[in-house]
Amino acid sequence: SKKTANEIRATFLDFFKKNGHAVVDSSPLVPRNDPTLMFTNAGMVQFKNVFTGNETRPYSRAVTAQKCVRAGGKHNDLENVGYTARHHTFFEMLGNFSFGDYFKADAIELAWTLITKEYGLPKDRLCVTVFHTDDEAADLWKKVAGIGDDRIIRIPTSDNFWMMGDTGPCGPCSEIFFDHGPHIAGGPPGSAEQDGDRFIEIWNLVFMQYEQFPKDGGHERVPLPKPSIDTGMGLERLAAVLQGVHDNYDTDLMRALILASADATGAPPEGAHAVSHRVIADHLRACSFLIADGVMPSNEGRGYVLRRIMRRAMRHAHMLGAKDPVMYRLVPALVREMGGHYTELQRAQPLITETLRLEETKFKQTLDRGLRLLDEEEGRLAPGQALSGQVAFTLYDTYGFPLDLTQDVLRGRQRGVDVDGFNAAMEEQRRKARAAWAGSGEAATERVWFELKDEVGATEFLGYDTEMAEAKV
Ligand code: ATP
Ligand code: MG
Ligand code: MG
Ligand code: MG
Repeated sequence: SKKTANEIRATFLDFFKKNGHAVVDSSPLVPRNDPTLMFTNAGMVQFKNVFTGNETRPYSRAVTAQKCVRAGGKHNDLENVGYTARHHTFFEMLGNFSFGDYFKADAIELAWTLITKEYGLPKDRLCVTVFHTDDEAADLWKKVAGIGDDRIIRIPTSDNFWMMGDTGPCGPCSEIFFDHGPHIAGGPPGSAEQDGDRFIEIWNLVFMQYEQFPKDGGHERVPLPKPSIDTGMGLERLAAVLQGVHDNYDTDLMRALILASADATGAPPEGAHAVSHRVIADHLRACSFLIADGVMPSNEGRGYVLRRIMRRAMRHAHMLGAKDPVMYRLVPALVREMGGHYTELQRAQPLITETLRLEETKFKQTLDRGLRLLDEEEGRLAPGQALSGQVAFTLYDTYGFPLDLTQDVLRGRQRGVDVDGFNAAMEEQRRKARAAWAGSGEAATERVWFELKDEVGATEFLGYDTEMAEAKV
């Protein structure tokens, strides 16, 4: 029988525990003391200071299942969701780490043993990449995995060279791909046809063997005395492979959420509505886990990313014909699927439910009208013509449509948005607001007011109205 996602996670943690690794909890999605990073986007984030040597831990080997969000900031997979078989905004990254303990040979051997023996993946469906100059890794793969040169692909790009930043630990990496078969479009890694989902990257092994320093306006790489290992494997991609499906969204866990969405909206899970259900299932996880980790919807920073994800999901629920708020009704299914391992979901369930319900109730009041305006405006456009920035701005300013929501609506209709025009309209409104206030004499108060307005944006003022309207009901 096939392993569930929960069992696959447990097997991973157990395997590395057996091999001397400390099982460490996932860190929160909001990184501690790291304002440079929007959300935790990889397993190594909580160990950054351990890798640089600025912090020590009572263990030199660790294993985690890390909650990750890639929506906003450097890694942003939001636009991929619903369209590729392998991307989520929220996903779990399974990783093993060595802090100056074992290195390349053991990392490769452990990974290969786990996937081929413990998980039983067929060797002939796997191929690996190495950084083009990393002969050591290529030789190890040959020896450990016994695979031929044709399935050890040398990649010269930054895809196979990992850096923490401009300075700090860095090194080549090696990725394991699974071939889902010739019935799916796409070529092997590094080929011109790689775009496509036939060969899916499942695991990235990073060999931290240098430290980079600034030197004479450039950089210098010095070998680390004690090289380290950082790896990351997407649980959902691994689950797809192990459950014999091609698509992450066909795995047991995602499927349960999609069925909950179908149930709550009354729209069948398959067919015309499939994309909307996928988006809802994905965004439900991202929103719920973000709220559980203390992010609340707002009009700036992390809170605005959350609000954007929530509103996108709500637009899709609306497309499915839902007349009443939907997202909050899916929370029990999520807690059932994931609350066993991530107990914070159980603790935060009331907060998640109320936050989703309130946000969706508020947004519903302008969503309908905004979509109608958008349809009208679109009717005036020539085929393929982009929506004007001014209209996109009105949708943002008056109807609470984040720009990416408008783009998401139009993407389905092969249409873009004039983003420069949108930004210009936004700038113009700020300029006008400032000019209107100039010379009233109370400089300090004004500055506070403008900072506040820039922060919360005009939509929040609409929010007050709708909250008041709600209170009357
Ligand atoms: P891709 O090239 O497919 O976008 P990546 O190279 O950006 O993946 P890494 O940064 O190497 O991914 O992350 C390590 C692993 O985490 C990947 O091999 C993959 O299994 C998983 N992963 C990365 N991004 C996502 C995502 N958006 N959704 C689900 N799993 C992901
Ligand atoms: Mg990526
Ligand atoms: Mg990649
Ligand atoms: Mg990668």
